[in-house]
Parts: sequence; C-alpha cells; structure tokens
Amino acid sequence: AGTLYVVATPIGNLGDISERAIDVLNSVDVIAAEDTRHSARLCQHFSIDTPLKAYHDYSDQAHSEAMIGQLQNGKNIALISDAGTPLISDPGYRLVKLARDADINVVPIPGACAMAAALSVAGLPSDRFCFEGFLPAKSGQRLNYLQALLEEERTMIFYEAPHRIEDSLAAMVDVFGAERDLVLAREITKTYETVLAGSAQQVLSRVQEDPNQRKGEMVVLVKGFEAKDKQIDAKVEHMMRCLLAQLP
Ligand code: SAM
Repeated sequence: AGTLYVVATPIGNLGDISERAIDVLNSVDVIAAEDTRHSARLCQHFSIDTPLKAYHDYSDQAHSEAMIGQLQNGKNIALISDAGTPLISDPGYRLVKLARDADINVVPIPGACAMAAALSVAGLPSDRFCFEGFLPAKSGQRLNYLQALLEEERTMIFYEAPHRIEDSLAAMVDVFGAERDLVLAREITKTYETVLAGSAQQVLSRVQEDPNQRKGEMVVLVKGFEAKDKQIDAKVEHMMRCLLAQLP
C-alpha cells in the first residue's frame, strides 16, 4: 500500500517550508489540498508539478473512500491545508482516521503551526497548555464557552478572525477579568508580525485604539487561572498545623 503524508506548509513566510516537505510534495502521486487554487500558487513557487485534488472533511464519504482506495492500490498521497499543519483547525481528521482504520501508513512531515509559533514567543507558561481553536461565532455561545474555561489552569490558546477580535477580547475581559495576562500574536512570520502582551484590558485597549491591530491572522493566548484562593487555603492550613503542634 501507499503512504499518506500529512505535510505542514508555511503560515506566511515561504522560507519556512522544509526540505522534506518539498521532497514529499514532489514525489507523491497526488496532493490532496483544502483549496487547490491556493495550493497551486505554493506549488508553482517551489516548481512542484504534482497533480492537486480537493479534499475537505465534509467531502462525501465516497470521495474519502476513493482516496483510501488509491492508497490501497499503492499510490502515495500528501495532504496539505491552506497554511500550517493540517488537522490543526483544518481539514484532514476524517481522512487520517479512515487511513488508520485501513492500516495505511500515515507519516507526518512537521513544520509551521501558528499556535506553537505563538506559544513559543508569548512568554506565558508553556509546560501545560490547551488549544481551543476558534471560539463560537455567536456572542452568547462564546460567553458560555469562555465561562467553562474560567478555572482552566493551563495556558489557553485560541485562533481568532479580525472581524471578531474586539468582541472576543472584550468577552475575555468580562470572563477572565481585566488583569489576566493575555498575548495577541498577529501575522506571525509576515511583514507586520506583532506580539502584544499585557493585561487583558491593556491588549483590548490597544486593539480598540488602533485598527491596524485588528488586521490579519491572529492567535490569542491567555494565562491559566491561578488558584490564589487555593494557595491561601494551603497557607492557612499550614499555619493551623504549626499552631496545633504548639498546643499542649
Ligand atoms: N493549520 C493552521 C496552523 O497550523 O496553524 C491553522 C489554520 S486555521 C484555518 C487559520 C487560523 O490560524 C487563523 O485564523 C489564525 O487564527 C491562525 N493563523 C494562521 N496563520 C497565522 C499567522 N501567520 N499568524 C497568526 N495566526 C495565524
């Protein structure tokens, strides 16, 4: 059987493509792409002339199964998305799952991923984090979603769109509080790459004051909940134990 390669492509700067990604894209029989017109430009840039075929998670079952059939017949396929790592807020899950179920070799070709790049420069705790993808578009649902994360202790990473950033940051101020540490990483690897870091309120104010800070592609990172109350409890408990030990 053939191999399904899951290939990361750049998130802005084309220099971030890997040698291995280029080799694989050149050598496979087909490149399955989210948007073939978008990916045609990438291929053109790197002089890759492998045929491109459209793939989405909502492509019908028959389409996904046809791709599995091709793999079973010994064809090699590379899956790419418009930018970054496939399956990370991008299509691919269904195809990878079907391939795994069919015992087909699935090989990652790692590379750019906006959330990992943002986390690497945010200056927020990175030992534990959770990736939340895109928030719900409707304000009520978004608020519920954020409220459920109120006591999340890990650094939270969100993807956001320019037309929603102001509302989302305002909702974060409401739910997490004005003082919570927050980082907005914008246009990573591109000309206007910007990282705004501060309290949630400070970052919101910057975005409200300056329309340029609402443009482009963006990642929002929020520091996890610090269980100050729990820390106080622990201190009180410790003190009580010390005092108890002194009692006759
Ligand atoms: N698969 C991609 C990845 O590996 O990061 C993510 C695809 S998702 C459809 C697109 C979102 O990723 C954007 O709305 C933005 O939140 C984030 N993103 C992609 N490229 C970015 C960049 N250069 N700078 C900041 N955020 C970016």
